[in-house]
Amino acid sequence: MGRRMRVLVVEDEPDLLDALVQVLREAGYAVDGASDGRDGLFKAKVNEYDAIVLDLMLPGMSGWDLLGELRRRKTTPVLILTARDTLPDRVRGLDAGADDYLTKPFELPELLARLRALIRRGAGQASGVIEIGEVVIDTADRTVRKAGQLVSLTPREYALVELLAMHKGKLVTRTMIYEHLFDEESDTLSNLVDVHVANVRKKLGKDFITTRRGEGYQLHV
Ligand code: CA
Repeated sequence: MGRRMRVLVVEDEPDLLDALVQVLREAGYAVDGASDGRDGLFKAKVNEYDAIVLDLMLPGMSGWDLLGELRRRKTTPVLILTARDTLPDRVRGLDAGADDYLTKPFELPELLARLRALIRRGAGQASGVIEIGEVVIDTADRTVRKAGQLVSLTPREYALVELLAMHKGKLVTRTMIYEHLFDEESDTLSNLVDVHVANVRKKLGKDFITTRRGEGYQLHV
């Protein structure tokens, strides 16, 4: 377990949806599922996801239409998942604003690797290693080192550090933290952002995270 980046899976085949949700949760993501296009579009609009895995052939609203609607207001990275693997479909998907494309059947490690790459690119991080002073975060290994020493973090502490690091130098609001760390099934007691911030400060130094009172948190570079 490591990151708690938040992902939406839109897939109408129940077995595949269940399998994807389970695999992504086991990989440490906060995961929401939608089994038709309209529900998928609704969730994609109201929640802040780090990435969306999108099937094309869906009841209610096709993946194409969902993507078109979403792109009118959001740039959430989208990985299209489909049995269609002809060249025109690939081009259409990328033209419609998809960020990557994976054809069924696919290998789960490839899906996970592509998702990690999408999320890094979405946050403007080409490299998987982020350095904040003497703290080094490796998003591929999901490890954090301080002055070369491995620091043991809980999955949510790691997710918090990674989220802040991906936006280093910029304000990260409490709402962003809630949206990225917790899915719809998280219990409310675990949602105490302040507690996680305090614990990270104990482990990485009290000046590592700056509080911007009434606004949120920030890492200084
Ligand atoms: Ca389908």
